[in-house]
Amino acid sequence: VILERVQLLAKENDLLFPLNFGAKGSAQIGGAISTNAGGLRVFRFGMTRSLVLGLEVVLMDGTILSSLKKIIKDNSAYDLKQIFIGSEGTLGVVTKAVLKLSEAPRSRNSAFVGINGFQNVVQFLKFTDKELAGTLSGYELIWNETFQKMTTPPSLSKAPLSYDYEYYVLIESLGSDQAKDHVALENLLEGALGESIIEDAVLAHTDSDLDWFWKIREDVHVIVSQCAFDQHFDISVPIPLIGKMIADATKKLKEVDGVTDVYPFGHIADGNIHFVIGKENDSVELKNKINDIVYGPLMAIGGSVSAEHGIGLHKKDYLSLCRTPEEIAVMKSLKKAFDPKSLLNPGKVIEINL
Ligand SMILES: Cc1cc2nc3c(=O)[nH]c(=O)nc-3n(C[C@H](O)[C@H](O)[C@H](O)COP(=O)(O)OP(=O)(O)OC[C@H]3O[C@@H](n4cnc5c(N)ncnc54)[C@H](O)[C@@H]3O)c2cc1C
Repeated sequence: VILERVQLLAKENDLLFPLNFGAKGSAQIGGAISTNAGGLRVFRFGMTRSLVLGLEVVLMDGTILSSLKKIIKDNSAYDLKQIFIGSEGTLGVVTKAVLKLSEAPRSRNSAFVGINGFQNVVQFLKFTDKELAGTLSGYELIWNETFQKMTTPPSLSKAPLSYDYEYYVLIESLGSDQAKDHVALENLLEGALGESIIEDAVLAHTDSDLDWFWKIREDVHVIVSQCAFDQHFDISVPIPLIGKMIADATKKLKEVDGVTDVYPFGHIADGNIHFVIGKENDSVELKNKINDIVYGPLMAIGGSVSAEHGIGLHKKDYLSLCRTPEEIAVMKSLKKAFDPKSLLNPGKVIEINL
């Protein structure tokens, strides 16, 4: 079943399936589970693994491993489903799932905010989280150049704020009372402006404002379509270190011969940054040089080469930058136990000796 269909079915029953990302119209639940997809509401609801109550998986030897219970707590020994969630189809094939739904929120409010200084991006996150008392569900960061690209033609979306700020944050609150929550967000923004944490803000007043704001963030294709030989990243970095890490990486990337564009943005409340990089050619040498700049600092700062998109083939060589040899050895033991002939997605994620 396609993710968007699950979202709609939940909505028709006054419920919410909170998993949400740009590919919702094509991604299947099996794919989302296998990649442990994250997306736009992880800060509040968690990644796919926290939205799965039960799972049926078919193993390579034909065994049907079925645990389709609808219970939340189950500490009866190992939680086997979690081994398959995020394993990118290398350990078994997901055939059924019991998903965890939430009560549908009765209010949805969003605002675009202009901020200078990364310390203020962090400060505003803490401020918003405290003030919204559990209803903050999205906190997306867009760097200035990326914001400009997302809001100038051929993009069909116009900019809701001027281009005067270093960072643009799109926040979302999901609550219980539309009028009250709208005022609460308005007051919060006034408070943050008063304390000079933020420079400017614009609140979505209508559903079409909400669509406009979120289309800007979700339509990454508008950037990708303007970058030749696009190379993508999905890294995790401890939140306070993101500003400097991205500034350093962007500077180094722009100095590389053959790099034409660098566009960072991300799910910053989760410490997750995406990059789209445009290039003059598709050479392996250029690709590796870019990988070294982006992945190089991650080990020292305790980051990850994949926040939510997985390892697949492209990031296999960099797994050891964020996983210890002992962890990788245990992963290989698991692969050998579940798929000794390496027939499931062979060569992806980790290699085993046959
Ligand atoms: C425009 C766009 C935006 C995106 N934004 C985000 C985002 O914000 N956050 C995020 O986390 N991800 C994002 N993604 C990635 C997205 O999570 C994955 O593309 C999607 O979840 C995978 O689902 P799929 O059905 O397309 O799987 P596929 O692409 O078909 O498969 C993905 C992997 O899972 C395996 N697989 C698929 N189905 C099964 C199954 N039933 N059992 C076992 N293995 C299986 C496949 O073999 C493959 O290795 C985005 C992708 C796009 C294209």
